[in-house]
Amino acid sequence: MRIGIPHCGHAYLTVEALAQKLDGGGNKLVIPPPTSQRTLDLGAKYSPVEACLPFKLTLGNLIEACELGADTLIHGRGAGICRLGYYVKGQEQIIRDLGYDAHFFTLDVSQHKFRSIMRLIKDLSNNAPWPKVISAFFFAMGKLFALDKMDKVVHKMRAVELEKGRTNQIHREAIKAISEADTDRAVKKTTGEYIKRLSQVPKDPTADPVKVNIAGEIFVVLDPFANMDIEMELGKLGVEVERTMSLSRWAKYGLLLNHLGINEWKEIHEAAMPYLKRNVGGDGWESVGEKVVHAREGYDGMVHLAPFTCMPEIVAQNIMPSTKEDIPVLTILCDEQMARPGMITRVEAFVDLLKFRRKRRRK
Ligand code: SF4
Repeated sequence: MRIGIPHCGHAYLTVEALAQKLDGGGNKLVIPPPTSQRTLDLGAKYSPVEACLPFKLTLGNLIEACELGADTLIHGRGAGICRLGYYVKGQEQIIRDLGYDAHFFTLDVSQHKFRSIMRLIKDLSNNAPWPKVISAFFFAMGKLFALDKMDKVVHKMRAVELEKGRTNQIHREAIKAISEADTDRAVKKTTGEYIKRLSQVPKDPTADPVKVNIAGEIFVVLDPFANMDIEMELGKLGVEVERTMSLSRWAKYGLLLNHLGINEWKEIHEAAMPYLKRNVGGDGWESVGEKVVHAREGYDGMVHLAPFTCMPEIVAQNIMPSTKEDIPVLTILCDEQMARPGMITRVEAFVDLLKFRRKRRRK
């Protein structure tokens, strides 16, 4: 089998780590090229026009994987109340119509994540023994946690670095080093070293960063191509970014702690309750709760990322202005029509507003 995967941020490094540890007995991992304008053009060309951006981007990735010879494609399926449930069937049909004879391996990303992921790894590893599968799983998780830990430091340092771009440069080196680390110990050591280097980046003593939370639909929040590197753009403007969502958090709770009855969104859902009492699919409920919680915590603002036509986030977007816990929210709708200069102009105006409000508060 030649196994192709779609992209979502750095998730491919985790799959690569699994392949590194499991001898697939002739199976080969096909990682499509990093998501690019071509990927988006392909996805948009063959998707229904009203499909949401994650559908189009991941379809583009899968087509590019097929072009590289993938004959087995992995994709997520969910049983929620938005159109995620239709993704696999829709993409499978489109891929077949394009003439690729690929088999789809689906991953349940909603109710039975852990069972589904372990089963998939076992199948893809040509039935490797369970101890080997479990050890590969924890090795891959180690990399995922390392990357997200690094992100948190990067979000803080970008806002205060003296020499603009220094943090990004170390971050790129760190991602490469973590990707090359081949043992658990090497992953830990590399992470520690790069976090130390990042923390030693010279800081601007006059920096007074405004603090912004990023929330919204998980794919566009986590994928820098989909959101046009908004975290980096905010960092350039001296904004400290915080985001609750991360792949490691999703894995930690979704694959392990949720099964013990621990709900990582409890506080956020409770905060959303006066305004939205139920799950509306995707991450819409969480977006409302995040606004309330971060307003209470004294954040200066929130960037709300939503794929154009995403039903859950449209619900959230319309509820957010009515919460009594008030912080400015900039909603950015991500789709194939979005252009970087337009996005940057809106972000710059938003950051100016936040700085002005902060100055006025301090008077
Ligand atoms: S949450 Fe929104 S973007 Fe994600 S699959 Fe559902 S409708 Fe599409």
